[in-house]
Amino acid sequence: MKRVLITGAAGFLGSHLCDRFINEGFHVIGMDNFITGDKKNIAHLNNHPNFEFIEHDVTEFIKIEGDLDYILHFASPASPIDYLKIPIQTLKVGSLGTHNLLGLAKDKNARILIASTSEVYGDPLVHPQTEDYYGNVNTIGPRGVYDEAKRFQESITMAYHRFHGLETRIVRIFNTYGPRMRLNDGRVIPAFMGQALRGEDLTIFGDGSQTRSFCYVDDQVEGIYRLLFSDYAYPVNIGNPHEISIKEFAEEIMKLTATHQKVVYKDLPVDDPMQRQPDISLAKKVLNWQPNIGREEGMKLTFEYFKTLSQDELYKSEH
Ligand code: NAD
Ligand code: UDP
Repeated sequence: MKRVLITGAAGFLGSHLCDRFINEGFHVIGMDNFITGDKKNIAHLNNHPNFEFIEHDVTEFIKIEGDLDYILHFASPASPIDYLKIPIQTLKVGSLGTHNLLGLAKDKNARILIASTSEVYGDPLVHPQTEDYYGNVNTIGPRGVYDEAKRFQESITMAYHRFHGLETRIVRIFNTYGPRMRLNDGRVIPAFMGQALRGEDLTIFGDGSQTRSFCYVDDQVEGIYRLLFSDYAYPVNIGNPHEISIKEFAEEIMKLTATHQKVVYKDLPVDDPMQRQPDISLAKKVLNWQPNIGREEGMKLTFEYFKTLSQDELYKSEH
């Protein structure tokens, strides 16, 4: 049985990856320190014979007994308010954490895939974003802690690939959503859905003309899975190119949730990208991948999940 280590296992994407690899017949070792994750996301795997969990901060030396065939490094705060609240941890997990995991991969002769992000393109001047665009990032801005950690992560991964001949894969993930997102993580989908469920007005930052392109989690996991087993070592965008402005998106959510609230406008966060859409030509070519789940269907599935949360969870405020 092949063995895979998944960091960030108690988070949104990490927990879905654990499910996928278990279903594909792997032995999965999940690792997390719960800084932004939740035990609940992997509770259903607790007694699974092919799942084990190690509570550990990946910025500290990592020791794994036995063989490892694959590593997926997904540990990192991922929402703007998380990484603004824990900026140093964000820089450390992208840099020191990635270094530890590359060292582990080298030691175990394992293939490693690292989770990069569309944020490496910053506030992009090229649209849609292709993998050969170098990006427009404000190094010293508040978002820089995440963007630069991820840019460093890509650089050190390519250095291990070139210098040590390590088998590496880099996925540049564009805004992904679905069940198990944290209601209070501040990202736009949980924010709007929480507001709709609590009967509050929807908060649009700025004038709402900024755009995003939202990918359903199952499509994202499929893209990541295909990339891991491809022979392509350079970064690949995985996301859904169907772009929408935040203002139109708020209207869609109000329709879906049948709420009668209004929208209220708040300040746009510093360095909030004005536009974002993945060019997925490369993923189509090298992975034969494209998303299959449209926003209407994906948002319905996500809303069903948020509706199952208890009143306590719905009203719990962390920020
Ligand atoms: P998440 O916050 O739900 O999950 C991240 C997990 O990593 C959490 O469980 C957290 O506790 C864990 N973690 C953080 N620092 C750690 C450390 N030092 N040691 C061990 N565990 C640690 O976020 P997510 O949306 O699931 O994102 C997962 C990965 O995908 C991140 O690397 C993120 O940058 C990347 N990504 C996500 C998106 C998206 O739209 N969801 C977009 C681009 C990139
Ligand atoms: N946003 C918003 N209202 C909210 C939360 C977010 O208008 O309550 C905006 C945010 O400013 C950004 C977009 O929605 O322009 C997507 O934000 P998110 O945090 O989900 O992702 P990211 O900015 O990292 O793409």
